[in-house]
Amino acid sequence: MIPSPWQTRLQQQAERRQSLGRNRDIRPPAGVDLCSNDYLGLRRDPRLAEAAAEAARAHGAGAGAARLLRGTCPLHEDLEADLAAWKGTEACLLFNTGFQANATLIPALVGRGDGVFSDALNHASIVDGCRMAKAGGAHVGIFRHLDLGDLASQLAAWRAGAPPQAQALVATDAVFSMDGDAADLPALLEVCDRHDALLLIDEAHTTGLLGADGAGLAQAQGLHGRIPLVMGTLGKALGSFGAFVCCDRLLRDHLLNTARGFIFSTALPPPVLGAALEGIRLARAEPWRRQRALALAGRLRAALGQPGQPSAIVPVFVGADADAVRLAALLQDEGFDVRAVRPPTVPEGSARLRITTGAHLEEGQIEALIQALGRLLDH
Ligand code: PMP
Repeated sequence: MIPSPWQTRLQQQAERRQSLGRNRDIRPPAGVDLCSNDYLGLRRDPRLAEAAAEAARAHGAGAGAARLLRGTCPLHEDLEADLAAWKGTEACLLFNTGFQANATLIPALVGRGDGVFSDALNHASIVDGCRMAKAGGAHVGIFRHLDLGDLASQLAAWRAGAPPQAQALVATDAVFSMDGDAADLPALLEVCDRHDALLLIDEAHTTGLLGADGAGLAQAQGLHGRIPLVMGTLGKALGSFGAFVCCDRLLRDHLLNTARGFIFSTALPPPVLGAALEGIRLARAEPWRRQRALALAGRLRAALGQPGQPSAIVPVFVGADADAVRLAALLQDEGFDVRAVRPPTVPEGSARLRITTGAHLEEGQIEALIQALGRLLDH
């Protein structure tokens, strides 16, 4: 039984969410997938299912323990080796989720007196990592979205008052999850180098999608293997689950010893690893998948009059929460699984549809969506 003061409080909070039109609910998938992060259409590929089954038969359904106990199987090491080779780094460390990676690797690096600088539109997991670092005595600077002048001046101002041994970390999404726009990594790395700051990029929405070999935004922007910390996820384009940080051996060893989300959590299970290994193989071997996802997003953006972006995320800005929800519902009624995103996931007054494209979609489906959007947005 929930104690009655708790019951009262929870009910009041639920009513408040309802009255603001901000109650979240889980709606099962229905209609054409225009909102998942399955950019390469690999999630349901029978080859991933077979690789998962084979891994379970060979190594078990579960890992049984954390990596530092008995949880490591050969597939963890194979996957880390494949990811490091793909991303062009010396080493790689798996994490169980992207959320766990960001939320715990930031406080593992940034402590008392240090500074962490984060783009204003970074993912919630980076925000929480910064909060943890702040609780540990670090300075947190939020710089305006993509504004490297703001970042540079914050770094300089902080450095002027920081103790000599203090270190700085800069964190950014490579492609931003709710806007689909991209960071300028060469310019960002230049600012970081000038201020001796370590750069962490989150390639959750770019791994498998961008660059000559699908390795991500760093590869697409000519910085393959040159960013010190490249985090990414296995549950989006790669069709499986989990996350990784690609870096050098010194950083990997530090994270393995200090990132609490790595140390105190049961290792990724073998079927997930088997599917991820196959997902990486297919992402590299079948470039038509990323080409199609990006071409469809480009077509949709052009129809909406938006500038091109290197991503498969296309926001349709609406503004008011209720309007975004209504528009999503109308599209759902027509068989398009499009979802509204509202504050606090996005800033106040910027409710939107977050449309994603993927290799599983046909051109005709995007044309039909464009027609429907044209009709509904006119009203
Ligand atoms: N970073 C970004 C940019 C994301 O969009 C997400 C997932 N939505 C995450 C991290 C978290 O990854 P995971 O789903 O593996 O926890």
